[in-house]
Amino acid sequence: MMAKQAEIMVITPHPDDAEFGVSGTVARWVSEGKDVIYVVCTNGDKGTSDPNIKPNELARIREQEQRAAAKLLGVRDVIFLGYPDQTLEDTPEFRKEIVRLIRIYRPEIVVTADPYRRYIWHRDHRITGQVVLDAVFPYSRDFLAYPDLLEEDLQPHKVSEVLLWASEDPNYRSDITDTFDIKIAALRCHKSQIEDNLPPDWEDRLRQWFRSLAEGEDFELAEAFHRAEVQWRSAPPKK
Ligand SMILES: [Zn+2]
Repeated sequence: MMAKQAEIMVITPHPDDAEFGVSGTVARWVSEGKDVIYVVCTNGDKGTSDPNIKPNELARIREQEQRAAAKLLGVRDVIFLGYPDQTLEDTPEFRKEIVRLIRIYRPEIVVTADPYRRYIWHRDHRITGQVVLDAVFPYSRDFLAYPDLLEEDLQPHKVSEVLLWASEDPNYRSDITDTFDIKIAALRCHKSQIEDNLPPDWEDRLRQWFRSLAEGEDFELAEAFHRAEVQWRSAPPKK
C-alpha cells in the first residue's frame, strides 16, 4: 500500500472529542499548510439522552456532524473505525488497526486523549489513549511486530511526539487565540451533543476555560496538552 504522508494524526474516541480537545490547534496547523488526518474510533451511538432516537440513526447523525466539523477545520481526511460507543477494549486487533494507520500516514505528531486521568473518565477515552500510546511505541516502530504489514509494504514508522488532551499533567500550551472562533464553529457542528449536554452559555464558559489555560503565557487563549517526545534509540535526544 502506498504511504499517504500527513504531518498530524488526531485519534479521537468519539465524534466531537477532538473538537473539544484540539480543534483550535488543528485550525492553526492547517493554516500553516500542514496535513491533518482524523481517526474516529467509535460511532458515538450511545451519546444521547433522547429515548426515541435509534442508535444507528444517532451514529449516522454523528458521522455527518464529525465530517462537517472536520471540513470546516480543513482536516484532509476522516477515517471512521466504527466501533460501537462504550465498547472499546485494549485488544491486539484494535492496536493493529492504529499501527496500520500510523504506518500508512506516517505522522510526525499523534494527538489523542490522555488515558491517565484519575477516577471518573470515559472508558473509551482511557482505552483509546492507552492503545494509541502502545501503537506509537513500540508497535509502529518495530520491524518484527507485524510481518504481515511488511508484506503489504507498510514499513515501520517513528512518530516524533504525542500530544494528549484533557491531561491532569499538562506541560505544553498551544496558542489558539486566532483560531478560537473556528473552534467554536466546529463545536457547533456537533449539534446533537451541544443540545444534549451543554448549558446555554457554553461558548462564554469555554472562552473562560481556554483563557485560564493560557495563564502565564504571552497569548490569550490556549489548548493544553501533556506533550511526550518519543526518544528513539538510534537518534540522540533533542536539545
Ligand atoms: Zn468522548
